Amino acid sequence: MLKKKTSYYDDNFGHWEEIEPDDPDVEFAQIVRDDSVKKTCRLCGEEVYLRQAYDKCNSCMEKLERGQEW
Ligand SMILES: [Zn+2]
Repeated sequence: MLKKKTSYYDDNFGHWEEIEPDDPDVEFAQIVRDDSVKKTCRLCGEEVYLRQAYDKCNSCMEKLERGQEW
């Protein structure tokens, strides 16, 4: 469990800012972690931990959001 104010990197959503212990984000972050499995990103081929429904890592999603062509 996330018990103290913390920040970490997640392959689904990228960098999480510092989270307070009583922040609702703590629960959500834990759900995301519990739901994540090791996958190969469909775009870059990196091994990442992604939610069941996801097939692209955060860094690829950021590139897509910036309009980079693949
Ligand atoms: Zn990727």
